[in-house]
Amino acid sequence: AGARGVVEAALAGGGGWQPYPRIADILGRYGIPVLASAQVAGERAAIEAAGSVGYPVVLKAADPDLVHKSDIGAVHIGLDGPGAVRAAYRAVGAALGRTEPPVLVQAMAHGQVELVAGVVHDPLFGSLIMLGLGGVHTDLLGDRAFRLVPMTVQDAGQMWRSLRAARLLTGYRGAPPVDTAAVEDLVLRLGRLAEDIPEIAELDLNPVLVGPGGPVAVDARLRLA
Ligand code: ADP
Ligand code: MG
Repeated sequence: AGARGVVEAALAGGGGWQPYPRIADILGRYGIPVLASAQVAGERAAIEAAGSVGYPVVLKAADPDLVHKSDIGAVHIGLDGPGAVRAAYRAVGAALGRTEPPVLVQAMAHGQVELVAGVVHDPLFGSLIMLGLGGVHTDLLGDRAFRLVPMTVQDAGQMWRSLRAARLLTGYRGAPPVDTAAVEDLVLRLGRLAEDIPEIAELDLNPVLVGPGGPVAVDARLRLA
């Protein structure tokens, strides 16, 4: 649905790690829920963007090469007014050692579980879809499931159930169950994207925040090759 054209243009520009707005564009064309973001530079532009997104907002560094933005103080969530946005913008600048860094301004997403979802490309097997426990626990616990594309509905149903963290999704300790059907839909859509666009070398949605209202990716890294 036009995603091919966006990818071709990105590859013509050298490929590699892609800026968030382009990733959101590609994902959006496959109906994969991803948080919209304004990418702006400068304190005034950040405050303006926050005003149109609506408070509270999130402000984070927009550099596609940064792997762990929060580790260096480049992610600020729950900003409740222009003063907080200004302070966060300055803090991101200080963290990066730059005066006018490009930043993303996003709405706050709410979810009780952080998942990670994505695509990895194996030279022998082709593209695989990945789903796991996300956020700060991703690397620590390594709780992940993989399926080759093309994916079946059965694959999608098994993926989250095969996680050790599956119980977190079905209403652990009195929490409301999350929309697991929407999680299955998301991995199926990732499967279609990976099938159509084998140039996706790596796609990492981390985290995908999931609640009763369904999942939404708030951070995305994509490498095209
Ligand atoms: P990085 O992974 O590079 O450190 P993220 O964008 O993933 O940066 O942000 C780090 C954490 O901040 C996320 O795992 C999530 O818990 C929280 N976070 C980031 N963006 C949002 C958002 N829009 N809404 C709610 N929480 C967010
Ligand atoms: Mg992240």
